Amino acid sequence: MSMQKLEAPTTLALIPLAWGEDALEATLAAQQSVVAANGGHCEVILLGAEGHDIACERAAQAGATRIWQVTHADLAGNDDMAALAMAASQALHQPLAERGAQTLVLLPPGIAGEELAARLAHLLSGHALGRCARLHWQNEAWVVERVTWGGRMRLSMRVESGLCFACLRGGRANFANSEPAQVTNTALVGGLPALMALDRRPTGQHLPPLDGAKLVVSGGRGVNERGFELLETLAVALGGTLGGSLPAVDAGMVPVMRQVGVSGKFVSPAIYLAVGISGTPQHLAGINPQTRIVAINTDVGADIFNVADVGVVADWNLLLPELLGVIKAQALI
Ligand SMILES: Cc1cc2nc3c(=O)[nH]c(=O)nc-3n(C[C@H](O)[C@H](O)[C@H](O)COP(=O)(O)OP(=O)(O)OC[C@H]3O[C@@H](n4cnc5c(N)ncnc54)[C@H](O)[C@@H]3O)c2cc1C
Repeated sequence: MSMQKLEAPTTLALIPLAWGEDALEATLAAQQSVVAANGGHCEVILLGAEGHDIACERAAQAGATRIWQVTHADLAGNDDMAALAMAASQALHQPLAERGAQTLVLLPPGIAGEELAARLAHLLSGHALGRCARLHWQNEAWVVERVTWGGRMRLSMRVESGLCFACLRGGRANFANSEPAQVTNTALVGGLPALMALDRRPTGQHLPPLDGAKLVVSGGRGVNERGFELLETLAVALGGTLGGSLPAVDAGMVPVMRQVGVSGKFVSPAIYLAVGISGTPQHLAGINPQTRIVAINTDVGADIFNVADVGVVADWNLLLPELLGVIKAQALI
């Protein structure tokens, strides 16, 4: 007896046109990869202040059988995420009314797409699946694979019912389809939430951001205020920047935007200098596994030494002034 594989339900891609061609192509590529692996149809919702014939054509060439061009005049020049999410939830109304309860909605991959996915899940009582590595349809449920702990672990989740909002990277889209798509044009009415008035103030931060830094000098609970001053001097002298663990942020030693870890930033420098940091999984999750870690810690049994490329069992009170002295002597400061 031959087992017949059940096709996945139709996959919807929701693409804000204001996010540009890259977002359009990346989402269509993700949708193609899901449909290639699981079957089912592709439908696309293009959301913007006005219709966009080229985007519509690209979606059809990528294999969409149905395209919903949804416009809302209030989206013109409005980059407020709350307003976009509200418009997107309204744009989904009709397509979802025609779909089953287990519809998968793909948003553009990236941080903005993940935020939109979370907002939509909240507005429409669905599941925010976030950044997925793989999505497959198995025994009438979506099975989602996610990479976590900075690439050290893969999680598999099974979603048996409800609307799912996800982001996925799918390589390059193929635009070879020549079948026409059915296009439905809808103009939304009704006000969107007003833009939040943001008061921009200088942060007082003079160090480069963590993103893109080649060297991160990071301090943990084992470092006090004087130690962080030394770490900052060291970071500047070596052309790097400053980071910290969660307890260092909680103690007010470093701003929260410099927290490294599962609930902070993910960093990929060539070298990560960890001072007074024990090396918990929550902290290590924020460091690229390819990064070389240099650790300074008084505790020879600290977990950070299990992952460090260079480990120094020492008290920073003694080591950092010596190190800065050597650098100064070599006229690096
Ligand atoms: C949901 C959740 C999310 C979290 N997210 C994060 C996150 O994003 N980032 C994060 O960092 N943590 C996070 N944590 C917290 C995490 O579990 C740890 O509490 C934290 O990573 C420990 O930070 P630490 O290494 O600075 O402190 P500790 O574990 O207390 O380590 C301090 C180290 O300093 C050493 N030390 C002490 N004095 C000296 C000295 N004079 N010289 C040299 N070494 C010295 C000690 O030997 C020790 O190893 C999270 C926890 C939870 C539950």
